[in-house]
Amino acid sequence: MSDGDNTTFSAGEWLRYTRHIQLPEVGAAGQLKLKQSHILVVGAGGLGSPVALYLAAAGVGQLTLVDGDVVDTSNLQRQIIFEHQQVGQSKATAAKERLLRLNPDIRVDAVESFLSADNAAALVAAADLVVDCTDNFSARYLINDYCCALGKPWVFASIQKFFGQCALFTPGNACFRCLFPEAPANVEDCNSAGVIGVLPGLLGVLQANEAIKYLLGLPTPLRNHLLLVDALNLEFRSIQLTRSDDCAACRDPAGAPNLPRQSAPLCAADNSRDSVLTPDAFRDRYRAGNCVLLDVRGPLERQSFHIGGLHIPLDELPQRLTELGGVETVLCYCQSGIRSGKAVALLQQQGVNGISLDGGLLAWLRCSLETLDDSHNR
Ligand SMILES: [Zn+2]
Repeated sequence: MSDGDNTTFSAGEWLRYTRHIQLPEVGAAGQLKLKQSHILVVGAGGLGSPVALYLAAAGVGQLTLVDGDVVDTSNLQRQIIFEHQQVGQSKATAAKERLLRLNPDIRVDAVESFLSADNAAALVAAADLVVDCTDNFSARYLINDYCCALGKPWVFASIQKFFGQCALFTPGNACFRCLFPEAPANVEDCNSAGVIGVLPGLLGVLQANEAIKYLLGLPTPLRNHLLLVDALNLEFRSIQLTRSDDCAACRDPAGAPNLPRQSAPLCAADNSRDSVLTPDAFRDRYRAGNCVLLDVRGPLERQSFHIGGLHIPLDELPQRLTELGGVETVLCYCQSGIRSGKAVALLQQQGVNGISLDGGLLAWLRCSLETLDDSHNR
């Protein structure tokens, strides 16, 4: 930082941030808030590149970048913070050098290791807000659990192929574990699935936008919502999130850092898998006919987005079974696959064949924003 004074601007800073200060929503007071803020950016890759560049350019006074990886040639297709001659260097340090060349008035700390149970508590505690720019569930659970425990907001994004998701998690609202109680066993990351190079740019800019607006106290529509982006068909959709009564992280924030963070192993011999179908198999089963599609989420979730079918919330299902008629099979879906699994168990107790959408709408929407047309079924 130029002079270490967090309560005023130098002439150079004033000039640099003129276009912000001109905005009534930011102004000099808002720009000072940014200067006094500390953001932890976990992951200096595809998402971390635009996030860190925009936060540094915006004048967020302190950034901490955490990444234990080194720059690889295959990163340069999307990780725009790096240059060809930086291949082989630490990502955290190479990114720090780039950011300070962009804006020497801010402070940037590079942590050349991955976020872990050993360093997460101190790193999250020191920050005002965390931006998740990682590519794996265990890191996101780690961020979520420490943010829950320490009452910190964080901005999530994930990217794969042409599809992205983004959400702002804040204390007292739905958390990441409400959304994904367990890590999917078979989720691909963009290293194995591929990703269009501009997609992390698109999602990273959305993350930076939400982070800056949160710090400024401006509207943050992604709070308690998940934004789904289909960059191939250029479709955007937002779904309302609800806090889960069963969520281990929300229910006991102090104990959240002790929760498990590994993917559940998928057991091929598990017979209960017969009543659970992947999104593709679920769609095929639906199209085969003689079945009814059933959304078992709550009314708010239904109102914000659905893929078709009947709507009976899980807690009303026992009293409303007759509404399903005499179909052979009921295809159940919910947000993440937990409630639809319970609905299937309930249906099977009543002698009805139930099938649950594995991973819920979130798994469905990860690869398609398609909805199911009911007209040819039932
Ligand atoms: Zn939760």
